[in-house]
Amino acid sequence: MPTATEALQCPQTGAPFERATIDRRDPGPNDIEIEIKHCGICHSDIHQVRGDWGAGIFPMVPGHEIVGVVAAVGGEVEGFAAGDRVGVGCFVDSCGECEHCENGEEQFCVKGVVSTYNARDYDGETTYGGYSTRIVVKDHFVVHIPDGMELDVAAPLLCAGITTYSPLKRWGAGEGKRVAIVGMGGLGHVAVQIAKAMGAEVTVLSHSMSKEEDGRRFGADAYYATADKETFKALRGSFDLILNTVSANLPIDRYLSTLNVGGAMVNVGAPAEPDTFRAFSLLGGRRILAGSIVGGLPETQEMLDFCAEHGVEPQIERITVDEVDGAYDRVADSSVRYRC
Ligand code: NAP
Ligand code: ZN
Repeated sequence: MPTATEALQCPQTGAPFERATIDRRDPGPNDIEIEIKHCGICHSDIHQVRGDWGAGIFPMVPGHEIVGVVAAVGGEVEGFAAGDRVGVGCFVDSCGECEHCENGEEQFCVKGVVSTYNARDYDGETTYGGYSTRIVVKDHFVVHIPDGMELDVAAPLLCAGITTYSPLKRWGAGEGKRVAIVGMGGLGHVAVQIAKAMGAEVTVLSHSMSKEEDGRRFGADAYYATADKETFKALRGSFDLILNTVSANLPIDRYLSTLNVGGAMVNVGAPAEPDTFRAFSLLGGRRILAGSIVGGLPETQEMLDFCAEHGVEPQIERITVDEVDGAYDRVADSSVRYRC
């Protein structure tokens, strides 16, 4: 017997949210039932609700920055008990058998990773995300929130944290590396802190100077406005690594020109329209243009522990369920500081 659960749903593309009741399955032997305490609003929620990435599955209950407390565990669950503080990120199932799942990179599952919402699970049931009061998730897809980290502050790390930690680590952000973070929103403000904690020299490239003071507080060594054309001249050949977290299309060639020989620009932003670039922007400096998508479960736990150890903390605004529509508009115009 599924359990009726309160949720906030978007009935159709771009429509306002409404309160609704959804069904959650009863916990099976490997499941964990979580009482949700908070959920972050990621720009990806907005892209999906507004149809930026193509048709979604409606009604949609978004939310993949979920934190809460374990209410019950199935008979075969180990390592979790009622009362534990836990999190759930961008996916809730994968085949568990392919080479990528075996490597702990479930995001690349050959059968297809099951997203936390706007997806069908392997039984064909629609998945519903964290804008709700409880969720039932396979134990493998649940992580522990470290002691001493507030649950609401931890929530954004379940997506913004892992999405930036994973490429920063993979591409060697660290001592002696000059790293630029493009866009200082939900992902970007966490990326600045993580890159700094990894030991890199960090520059923020934001469209204006309005958030400079915050950027420096997050650990940036330098801060530039990309609206100023002089910025790109001044920074020519400067960076070993650029992490692009911007939700809109950018003039990629200009950013590539700021990479040193052999430098890499890694995109995690997922704008609605295709990006374009000139091959010569890469050839001239043997440069690399790459992408990255969230991160696997072992790395998500590693990232949470890293953030706890290094004091990486999302700056959040707490809102109620009745304020979500307004919050979406504020995310879209970049006025949220820095995650709702
Ligand atoms: P966000 O909070 O809205 O931040 C995006 C930032 O991009 C803004 O704060 C702004 O920074 C900059 N920006 C926005 N519009 C711009 C424009 N027209 N021109 C230039 N800069 C602009 O969004 P988010 O939650 O961090 O997500 C960012 C992107 O990453 C989204 O596309 C999201 O879907 C994607 N994402 C991808 C993954 C993945 O796994 N790859 C995971 C999560 C999210 P400044 O004011 O500093 O310029
Ligand atoms: Zn996200």
